[in-house]
Amino acid sequence: MPRQIDQNGSDILRKQLEAIGLKVRTNAYTTSILGDGVATGIGFEDGASIPADMIVISAGIRPRDEIAASAGLETGSRGGIVVNDKMQTSHANIYAIGECALYQHTIYGLVAPGYEMADIAIDNILGGDRVFGGFDMSTKLKLIGVDVASFGDPFPPADSCRVIVFEDQVAGVYKRINMTDDGQYLLGGILIGDASAYNMLLQKTKNKMKITGKPEDELLGARSTGEAAAGVLGLPPDAMICSCESVTKAAICQAVEEGHETFNAVKKCTGASTSCGGCAPMVKDLITYTLKSQGKYVRNVLCEHFGYSRQELFDLIKIRSLHSYDEVLDTIGHGDGCEVCKPAVSSILASLWGI
Ligand SMILES: Cc1cc2nc3c(=O)[nH]c(=O)nc-3n(C[C@H](O)[C@H](O)[C@H](O)COP(=O)(O)OP(=O)(O)OC[C@H]3O[C@@H](n4cnc5c(N)ncnc54)[C@H](O)[C@@H]3O)c2cc1C
Repeated sequence: MPRQIDQNGSDILRKQLEAIGLKVRTNAYTTSILGDGVATGIGFEDGASIPADMIVISAGIRPRDEIAASAGLETGSRGGIVVNDKMQTSHANIYAIGECALYQHTIYGLVAPGYEMADIAIDNILGGDRVFGGFDMSTKLKLIGVDVASFGDPFPPADSCRVIVFEDQVAGVYKRINMTDDGQYLLGGILIGDASAYNMLLQKTKNKMKITGKPEDELLGARSTGEAAAGVLGLPPDAMICSCESVTKAAICQAVEEGHETFNAVKKCTGASTSCGGCAPMVKDLITYTLKSQGKYVRNVLCEHFGYSRQELFDLIKIRSLHSYDEVLDTIGHGDGCEVCKPAVSSILASLWGI
């Protein structure tokens, strides 16, 4: 994943994957599929081979541009229907968006740029003049259970930035943030093993928000609810809280003000947190602080699955000597858990027991 993570992050990720029984081979050039009529293994350039019952080939995006190509539209040499910044193809009355569209030699393999392209295309079809200016490729995913995220510019040139790195080889966590040379603004970063700070860091990077506290708090401070919440409040109204469903901070606050006062109600009303769920902690913080700003009493519980604050939960996990998320949920929580309590409990377990 050289576009997303650096060598140290890669080493941590490899260890995490090996710990669950996977064998990872890199720089292994596959040259043949072995077997006669049925696959029995694969062979590599260096002469080595491994046996296999099933072979899965994951080879990036292949845009389905056959119809466009046969209709005479311009396509890229490696596929994709060429579009300009209005999403027009080489025929001005035909538009292309999403994974089949090739914009400035790039196929965007994510949902959010596709939505943005759709907006641009519709605007132009209706006579508007909005243009597409490329899209931030920040991404967060779970790689076989391991959090992997990269945002902004994960590798700015070393001479134009300052870097803070946190590495915990026991817990399998690697975090890196890149800041401007004066240490005042975030440029981007990488999170492996714990990506709970992703949304906040992404928004601070995209909105060019000045770092007000200690720079290292940007990396570790998200473990404190208070700081995370204060950070959410500092975001501008048009900050994209849920990038999967394109829901802004303003839309979430408005939903709360209109009476959608629980996490589930806001989810249902706005669509926020209904896809990957990564923004759930920020949505919850926004609900809490919008209610507080309306003078409403808010009991500071972690989420609907735990009737305790983070500090109370910390104490209970310690006193009862609970050692896994499932054990915590079964013993002092209820329901199936969610994207708010899972990372919070995991971070408590990590700080208490190093797991
Ligand atoms: C396993 C996987 C996981 C992913 N996870 C994420 C993620 O976590 N976050 C994220 O942002 N993105 C993710 N993506 C990428 C995301 O799914 C795509 O970027 C997005 O779906 C592209 O949208 P689209 O509308 O351009 O194309 P698609 O969603 O592929 O839709 C194209 C449609 O056109 C149909 N079609 C094709 N040819 C024809 C034809 N000739 N006639 C009629 N219909 C046709 C296809 O059947 C399909 O339904 C993931 C992709 C995969 C495969």
